[in-house]
Amino acid sequence: MPMPIYFDSAATRPISKRALDKFIEISNKYPYNPSSVYSAGREAKKEIERCREKISSLLNVDAKNIYFTSGATESISIVFSSLLWQKRPGRAIVSAIEHDAVKSFIPLLKDKGWDVVKLRAKEGFVDPEDLKNAINEETKFVSVMALNNVNGAIEDIKALVGISRDAEKNMKHKILFFSDSVQALGKSDLNLKESDVDAASFSAHKIAGPRGIGLLYLKNRDLVRPLSSAGGQEMGLRGGTENVAAISAFAEALTECFENRKEKEERVKEISDYIKSEAVSLGFSINSVKNTTPYIINISTPLPSEVLTRMLSDKGIFISSGSACSNNAKKGENVIETMGFGSKRAMGSVRISLSDENTISDAYELIKALKEAAIG
Ligand code: PLP
Repeated sequence: MPMPIYFDSAATRPISKRALDKFIEISNKYPYNPSSVYSAGREAKKEIERCREKISSLLNVDAKNIYFTSGATESISIVFSSLLWQKRPGRAIVSAIEHDAVKSFIPLLKDKGWDVVKLRAKEGFVDPEDLKNAINEETKFVSVMALNNVNGAIEDIKALVGISRDAEKNMKHKILFFSDSVQALGKSDLNLKESDVDAASFSAHKIAGPRGIGLLYLKNRDLVRPLSSAGGQEMGLRGGTENVAAISAFAEALTECFENRKEKEERVKEISDYIKSEAVSLGFSINSVKNTTPYIINISTPLPSEVLTRMLSDKGIFISSGSACSNNAKKGENVIETMGFGSKRAMGSVRISLSDENTISDAYELIKALKEAAIG
């Protein structure tokens, strides 16, 4: 069977050769528990700290603010479950287009007495004015993702955090600003320091690192509680034996991802622009408008998204219906509807997500297949 043409990189990416080689090298080099006190254990621990330094310098933050976890879902869970412990719940403001890993906490927060306010996001963008209007004296938490996984919208996180910081000045308590930044890594100019978020979540597999490793960026350790502190690893925030090889492979993948990132993005933009303009000439609607990453394109065709996805899959081209990383196409479609594109467009919405590996000939094949499938 020929290699599929892969346009679902926002769901996951195959591990890169460099990251895989690093994984194997480190698995063999440090087969011991990093918490063991004998020298070989201490060496494994040093490797983790080297990676923390490496990753933090690439992200331009302090190493002490990086906590390794199993991935974004766990990082998100650490932040949100910390809210559930709070003795005095307040208002939590959450954008309406967050990933399920975030949204699944909304009923739990409500159960615990939190006043949850959802922020609309027209065409995928949270309007800073809406946030300003939603903040009241009881507001303790805001969650807005950095880059939307369904249509690639890049949020103005700096402006949104600025609004929270201004509001905070007149309050006795802090507003914790969390930004799920999984898709922003490698697909935009993410700047944690400049945007001044309190916490952010990441997964290595979205940037061709291994699955099952990610991190939580946390400006202040006291803002959250661990899911389990047993073992005391990760500065007491995330108990459990560390996966040294996966952490090293994550650092390697991030290094690779950031090498000539701008040039790579320019090249992807050319492919992405070609796909969008051809889609328009085929009469399809583009749901990735204005300030979106070239790595994620969302379009609507007259066919139900699942039908089109399967037809393309039969031709060896992999795209996704809706969000895909939530394993439920309907949820992704709802995000398109929530963005205000209407239910008909939502039903026919598919996501084409690119990586630096895609070529223009992949795009030619995709357009040819889209034409055959949706037009005949
Ligand atoms: N947040 C966003 C925006 C995502 O796209 C994903 C993708 O799966 C997640 C969170 C969850 O990431 P993971 O499954 O790696 O924990």
